[in-house]
Amino acid sequence: MSANPDLIIVGAGAIGTACARALASRGVSVLLVEAGPKPGAATPASAGMLAPLVETNRDDPMLALCVRARDLYRELAPALRDETGIDIGLWTSGILTVAFSEEELEQLKEEVAWQRQQGYHAEWLTPEEIKERHPGIYPAILGGVLAAEDGALDPLALNEAMLRSAMARGANLLQGERVDELVIRDGRLTAVRTATRTISAGAAVIAAGCWSGRISGLPRPLSVEPVRGQLVALDWPAGEPPGIVYAGQGYLLKRGNEAIAGTTVEHVGFDPGVTEAGIASILATARKVFPALAGKPVLRQWAGLRPGTPDGRPMVGRDPEIPNLWYATGHGRHGILLAALTGEIIANLFAGEKQEYDLSPLDPSRFWSQ
Ligand SMILES: Cc1cc2nc3c(=O)[nH]c(=O)nc-3n(C[C@H](O)[C@H](O)[C@H](O)COP(=O)(O)OP(=O)(O)OC[C@H]3O[C@@H](n4cnc5c(N)ncnc54)[C@H](O)[C@@H]3O)c2cc1C
Repeated sequence: MSANPDLIIVGAGAIGTACARALASRGVSVLLVEAGPKPGAATPASAGMLAPLVETNRDDPMLALCVRARDLYRELAPALRDETGIDIGLWTSGILTVAFSEEELEQLKEEVAWQRQQGYHAEWLTPEEIKERHPGIYPAILGGVLAAEDGALDPLALNEAMLRSAMARGANLLQGERVDELVIRDGRLTAVRTATRTISAGAAVIAAGCWSGRISGLPRPLSVEPVRGQLVALDWPAGEPPGIVYAGQGYLLKRGNEAIAGTTVEHVGFDPGVTEAGIASILATARKVFPALAGKPVLRQWAGLRPGTPDGRPMVGRDPEIPNLWYATGHGRHGILLAALTGEIIANLFAGEKQEYDLSPLDPSRFWSQ
């Protein structure tokens, strides 16, 4: 472990490891400090969907960035497999959103028309076309949209592959130690403190998920809070082709032989437990989408804490007053989608390189300048 790294990253979830890989690729000596992972960490709990068209709407300033983020994985997946031997399970065959009601149908039609005008690859599917793709789907389905380039990956595999790749490029990992405090002297970060040591560093990136605001010595309060999401695993219906289906507030995707079904959006503090009501609402949607799931046993159920912000957008960038303190946190529902892009952005900003995109939607200062 380098005694005085150029940069310390606090947290080795999807965001911290992606930042580590991108920075180490540019020759920065990086130390990742990871407390746990803590129970409730978002990355291992995540569904791993890459769903910019499904999960952002036309007014969302994140849409273009999210599409770019999704597309990065097409090159990254084979690169990570070559480097680390880990297959991140990239699925690129689209996400289907179906309508159960006339109201949902109208909304989807409007959205797909707009997406097509913008040049995004979205296809309207009739009930017959949907049943060709998914013979076991709810028989009275009214129609749906295929976001043809949206997809998914396996978040645990991504996390591990990013970590291994970062380490192969020279990054180090200090596992099982929590950063309790940032040391800031004369307007610069000089070190971080854990329970057992003080580690000097040239800079730090806060990538501690929903716990980011809990570190002492931050120059200002961070608007990041835990937003719980619950998930359930069942057997994927026998004979049903693989796919990802959204319906109302819920979704289902095939991973391995399992149907992963989600989710909830709950503001309940740092409690990573599942609830009967949460699981019941997820199962109700899943079993409506594929009636064959009715009565099938739950194989696993779990929850994770998304790092949420008041406007739902991440904070990626520099502190307004401490020039060597960086934030890469608050990714909410999109942290797997945005992980690789966040790493690239942080590494570019750190190197002082020009940015390809308008990063103002991500600017951490937006919460402190009003
Ligand atoms: C149920 C659910 C479903 C989701 N589905 C999707 C999806 O389909 N697509 C998508 O893009 N996103 C999804 N997300 C969101 C995504 O998982 C998160 O946005 C992303 O994982 C956040 O990554 P992170 O690295 O910021 O946080 P985390 O993964 O929580 O990692 C933070 C790490 O920091 C460590 N840490 C905390 N404090 C300290 C400290 N003081 N010192 C050292 N280490 C510390 C923790 O132990 C943890 O390992 C989902 C989330 C949930 C919960």
